[in-house]
Amino acid sequence: MQEPRTAHRVVVIGSGFGGLFATRALRRTSAEVTLVAKTTHHLFQPLLYQVATGILAAGEIAPATRHILRDQRNARVLLGEVTSIDLEARTVTSVTPSGTTTTPYDSLIVAAGAAPSYFGNDRFAEHAPGMKTIDDALEMRGRIFEAFELAELEPDPTLVQRWLTFVVVGAGATGVEMAGQIAELAHRTLKGNFRNIDPSRSRIVLLDAAPSVLGSFGERLSGKATRELEDIGVEVQLGLKVVDVDATGIDVVDGAGKHQRIESVCKMWAAGVSASPLGAQLAAASGAKVDRTGRVEVNPDCTLPGHPDVFVVGDLMALDGLPGVAQVAIQSAEHAADQIARRIRGDDVGLPFRYKDKGSMATVSRFHAVASVGRLRLAGFPAWVMWLVVHLLYLVGFKNRLTTVLHWTHSFVGRGRAERVITSQQVLGRSAIEGARRLPAAPPE
Ligand SMILES: Cc1cc2nc3c(=O)[nH]c(=O)nc-3n(C[C@H](O)[C@H](O)[C@H](O)COP(=O)(O)OP(=O)(O)OC[C@H]3O[C@@H](n4cnc5c(N)ncnc54)[C@H](O)[C@@H]3O)c2cc1C
Repeated sequence: MQEPRTAHRVVVIGSGFGGLFATRALRRTSAEVTLVAKTTHHLFQPLLYQVATGILAAGEIAPATRHILRDQRNARVLLGEVTSIDLEARTVTSVTPSGTTTTPYDSLIVAAGAAPSYFGNDRFAEHAPGMKTIDDALEMRGRIFEAFELAELEPDPTLVQRWLTFVVVGAGATGVEMAGQIAELAHRTLKGNFRNIDPSRSRIVLLDAAPSVLGSFGERLSGKATRELEDIGVEVQLGLKVVDVDATGIDVVDGAGKHQRIESVCKMWAAGVSASPLGAQLAAASGAKVDRTGRVEVNPDCTLPGHPDVFVVGDLMALDGLPGVAQVAIQSAEHAADQIARRIRGDDVGLPFRYKDKGSMATVSRFHAVASVGRLRLAGFPAWVMWLVVHLLYLVGFKNRLTTVLHWTHSFVGRGRAERVITSQQVLGRSAIEGARRLPAAPPE
């Protein structure tokens, strides 16, 4: 008797840009797709800073993955953190608090992304969280809004200033967007909200060891972004290396070795990323190399060396020096899905991945952005409109686009922030804030 023909089993790890777009790209194939991710949502990371600063609700940028894929009959979604990949047995093992699941695959797409990197100083994380997940954004929202609340209660003016000093480390797109929005919050949104403090006297410091803001955008756009940041009240301090971070401040040294301490409770880290530990695991099992941030060096077709059935895409992939941006994740994921679809049809595989650079952009403040698209270099309002349209296009779901437009109108045309809710867990469960509350002010240097 003839064996029943089984469908080609594809396992996708991750529900970010890479994982979601790979799964969707397989919708018209006969493959059975299993997406395994450690969160139940897809996440639009470029707008995390707006959740942190009270502009958007978490659900607007993080819709449920199984809802997005509800009509894709060949896809199922499994919750679980992948702890191991067996390249010989072709299985993926994932865990949840309720147990362990082993999922077999014929083809595997690994899109597990990256996490913040503290360059070997992981102890900084407690006092200067990164911005990679919804948890991070809500934690940051708690820290920012609580800092204003505790400043209002504080009788000692030195301690008030410590609550009202916000430090963002890293002058790339995330750091610039975050610093810009904290400045707008302090100088515009919170006007009239407090009786004892004046939020507009807040100090917002954007720090970087590099010599320029948004360096990858080139000198002209970098200069324009710096001027706009300074106009909205952000203090830009460049060429400074962070040497310590604690509950009440941050220590930096300049190129000449001069030390400076900035007293601040609310600090954020946007300075670097390191790839998911699954990258090191894959490299050890296959003999592939990893780059200095832990990304896996893949073949030109995005496969793991020696394993044509395993694709590594997005932020976890090192190929031709491509940056860790959403378009690389989307296009490499679609390329991997296309290769698998060809394999199922019996066509040739192994086609190299060709990246189409669609440009990059970053917002600095409301109505002001910088954009670099092909030869076009834009700054100010036209770049902001471009940013707005592109971000709306890539947000998942009509309802989310609609409510996002309403929230943007409320925050940018008006002065409101609809999402200022912070829970008692966010406020009281944080050791950094708790610790800082009890510590005296540092004596002047
Ligand atoms: C704050 C911020 C702002 C950004 N702004 C921009 C921007 O303006 N423009 C731009 O182009 N790019 C931007 N990026 C970069 C862009 O978001 C990333 O390049 C993109 O998300 C990478 O997609 P990915 O699928 O590779 O990884 P991710 O989107 O990080 O997805 C990784 C997925 O894997 C899951 N996962 C991780 N480990 C495991 C595991 N062990 N088991 C199961 N699941 C796991 C995660 O939960 C997640 O679902 C920004 C990133 C951040 C953090």
